[in-house]
Amino acid sequence: MENLTLEKIVNMCNQRGIIFAGSEIYGGLGNTWDYGPIGHEIKSNIKREWWKRFVYNSPNTFGVDAAILMNPRVWEASGHVAGFSDPKIDCKDCKTRHRADNLIEAHATKTGKPVNTDSMSDDELNKYLTDNKIKCPKCGNSNFTDIRQFNLMFETSRGVTEGGQSKIYLRPETAQGEFVNFINIQRTMRAKVPFGIAQIGKAFRNEVTPGNFIFRTIEFEQMEHQLFCKEGQDEAFYEEYKTKAWDFLLSLGFKAENLKFKPHDKLSHYAKAACDINYKFPMGWSELNGIHNRTNYDLSRHQEYSGKGMLYLDPVSGEKYIPWVVEYSIGADRLMLAVLCEAYNEEKLEDGDTRTVLKLHPKLAAYKAAVFPLQKNLGEKAMEVFNTLNKHFYCAYDEAGSIGKRYRRQDEIGTPYCITVDFTTLENGIVTLRDRDTMQQQSMTVDEVVAFIKGKLE
Ligand SMILES: [Zn+2]
Repeated sequence: MENLTLEKIVNMCNQRGIIFAGSEIYGGLGNTWDYGPIGHEIKSNIKREWWKRFVYNSPNTFGVDAAILMNPRVWEASGHVAGFSDPKIDCKDCKTRHRADNLIEAHATKTGKPVNTDSMSDDELNKYLTDNKIKCPKCGNSNFTDIRQFNLMFETSRGVTEGGQSKIYLRPETAQGEFVNFINIQRTMRAKVPFGIAQIGKAFRNEVTPGNFIFRTIEFEQMEHQLFCKEGQDEAFYEEYKTKAWDFLLSLGFKAENLKFKPHDKLSHYAKAACDINYKFPMGWSELNGIHNRTNYDLSRHQEYSGKGMLYLDPVSGEKYIPWVVEYSIGADRLMLAVLCEAYNEEKLEDGDTRTVLKLHPKLAAYKAAVFPLQKNLGEKAMEVFNTLNKHFYCAYDEAGSIGKRYRRQDEIGTPYCITVDFTTLENGIVTLRDRDTMQQQSMTVDEVVAFIKGKLE
């Protein structure tokens, strides 16, 4: 929808049981969110669709569910202990904390003189801030502390004594769970390169930047596919996963005009190629997912740090090599936000009313159908219809208020079909099915409803 604001989405989520502020009764905890009954269903459906496509329908792909807490050496090997930090500054006047690189990049964009903050030392960042009199976005003053590098990993300690000797981290990404299990999975599944390892799981980052609702949170869920291949096959797989990632979004109902590829301006030192698919969020074009050619960096580092061989022996050619990795990664929460934005519509009706409708793809909707008795004394028959339908797909039941009001409530959470039981149903078993998007109604038997909705879920 044109002119959609994030505020509208946040309000809708709060009002309709989709997403609530985390620990709300205690005033919340910044950048944390709880999924309500409707939101949990939608997010689960998104994850299920992803898993179907990238595991069940991807040849030679294996799923894994690795532990969130990993040996701290993993994060030394991955480079997170040394390099996963943001340059932070505090405003001495209003006490807000900011990322120096973000402030500088915003200023550079405005003045039309782009800078590469990644290649700047802390001293250079400090000098840029002072020379350009960069202002605090909150209070407008230019009175900052010096830059401090702030590691984004959440630390915790293991055991009963807190002595610092058993510091561990909440994983900042799920990818390492796939890499450290490369040999286990290759061996036990007798996997032949090229093959993939996929995982859906939580990751944690101590972000200070404001989150834009569930776009950036300190606790989030990643959906990742790592494709292990031989050097030389990497470029073709990189292109293949760009297409697969794009097609997946279209299959969820995204319009192509709201998506675009964006190559990374700056590559990680080990990466050969990297790009994002950006989505036109209400706050502007922002990253939705990434596709990265990571070379053989990850497995080489784990071989070096763990001392365990990561070589793959090609059974045909007899060649031994460390496989390359093409990574496809998408945040489940971020995708959820994009799905909600894409589906949100406000429509002027003929009677002058406006209806809010979430035009979710039926396979993503929390309820596939809602069953209504036309009047309360039809409750018994309506319950019987509900019980039949609910065996096939998740349904809602509502007998409160006028039929019009009940339609609106289901429109607002994206239920694609409403089924009304009236007096003729008692005689001939015929119910009325109303379509969320067209608002057209048609009569059919309950068996026909089951077949019709199942057809829409394919
Ligand atoms: Zn300030």
